[in-house]
Amino acid sequence: MVEQRLLHIDGQDVAASDGATFLVRNPATGEALYEVAHGTAEDVDRAVAAARAAFDDGRWRHIAPRERARTLNRAAALLAERIEEFARMETLQIGRPLREMRAQLKRLPEWLEYFGAVAQTTEGSSPDFGAGHLNVVRRVPLGVAGLITPWNHPLLITMKKLSVAVAAGNSVVIKPSELGPIVPMELVLLLEEAGLPAGVVNIVPGLGRTTGKALSEHPGLAKLDITGGTETGKVIAANAGRSLIPVTAELGGKAPVLIFDDADTDQAVAGALFAAFVATGQTCVQGARILVQRDSYERVVTALVERTRQLKLGDPLDSQTQVGPLVSEAQRDKAADAVERARKQGATVLTGGAVPTGAGLSQGWFYEPTVVAGVTPEMDLWYEEVFGPVIVVAPFDDEADAVAQANDSPFGLAASIWTQNVGRAVRVSRGLDIGIVWVNDHHRIDPSSPWGGFKESGIGSENGLDAFHAYTRPQSLIINSSDAEFDWFATVEDLRYS
Ligand code: NAD
Repeated sequence: MVEQRLLHIDGQDVAASDGATFLVRNPATGEALYEVAHGTAEDVDRAVAAARAAFDDGRWRHIAPRERARTLNRAAALLAERIEEFARMETLQIGRPLREMRAQLKRLPEWLEYFGAVAQTTEGSSPDFGAGHLNVVRRVPLGVAGLITPWNHPLLITMKKLSVAVAAGNSVVIKPSELGPIVPMELVLLLEEAGLPAGVVNIVPGLGRTTGKALSEHPGLAKLDITGGTETGKVIAANAGRSLIPVTAELGGKAPVLIFDDADTDQAVAGALFAAFVATGQTCVQGARILVQRDSYERVVTALVERTRQLKLGDPLDSQTQVGPLVSEAQRDKAADAVERARKQGATVLTGGAVPTGAGLSQGWFYEPTVVAGVTPEMDLWYEEVFGPVIVVAPFDDEADAVAQANDSPFGLAASIWTQNVGRAVRVSRGLDIGIVWVNDHHRIDPSSPWGGFKESGIGSENGLDAFHAYTRPQSLIINSSDAEFDWFATVEDLRYS
């Protein structure tokens, strides 16, 4: 049975102004799961107006940070009770194996707790203005933030943006991905159950080219925060730029995994396998280019290919399943097309490279975990983000060559370095034009740790104090503490502003 879901504006569930809806499907079976109201430009406008009214009357931003933190902590506790339910809902919509969704979602209460604590401990400053004045600088919230989120970690990415935005006292309008909107919608209800006033968080699902476009063009926003593909980010940032709205953008990637001769081979292979195929390769920090120092290349690649062949594809709700389907037919076809083009351009598929035919795999959008060798910078696959279970392996000679190959990308989101030599890890990291660098690890995240890409991977960062600062701005209060008479136009000499 297909469940119906509505928009949530000003604390109310409402239908779209034109009554339109769209379907959310299970990518493992193609079955329709939800019929969701499709927000129009008029609905976006209503949501921004509701968020603005909530901001202007101070029902949230003017309460003490400790009260805001208490509400967020209550929401964290409510969320912790619903992890299993939400993990299943996410798996049904996006096909990511349940074991992975559980592992991811159980971390999410930490974001509410962390940013609640940051809101309470953030202090202003008092620059020394000189003897005649006292200057107090407070960090104040921005206003209404528009949050546009992708499908690949529907709740995690909504949480990363929402937690900091509301902890800082802003109001928001969320446009979740049309492929996985339901759990972000549940989160909004949960926040209100925890005591967040109506109107502070509004959610308007719909397609990117209609609902997302309307939100990104809305002049009533004080900030736009998008996670998505690089081309989407460019369109959205251009829309926001027309109204001088600041943008945070977390965009695409093609992360290199650099494995040196002195690495622990078993750990490096396990790390590369995780980097490559967690979430069926559909993560922005996917280890999509596994670069191995030449003397170890055969050994590492042989082991990686062997372990890739052993990965178990299947029903994402089965706890034995390691790799699920891709999120949609279009995404599966994109992966298949990228591999075919690489083959035609002269690359060699070491394993995978086909749509699997085993039992239980015929209904969904499955694609075999694929390792491709012989890919050069002349071929599309070296540079393009596939966003699926397709990786490139290539050799490098030394540290300088590793850094040059790693940086040879339009993206600069993430990388990992595998070595037992600490000095080497530090030297190599200094050369990387990349925002997040792990050493002997990959894809680790914490609410306190900045997450943001260089180059075409984005603008600004999520998590940590930088993100909190980006959701606030300084307001400078300058108080005259002098008892001297002041009359600018009656003064002839010694004119001075301060
Ligand atoms: P996408 O760009 O297709 O969509 C992202 C969001 O933007 C969705 O809500 C979509 O509806 C909306 N959108 C699409 N076109 C729009 C338009 N013209 N105007 C306004 N809104 C529009 O991305 P996706 O397929 O949902 O997610 C995958 C992409 O996201 C990958 O490129 C991945 O690397 C990136 N990503 C980046 C990070 C990061 O932290 N850097 C994290 C996750 C995903």
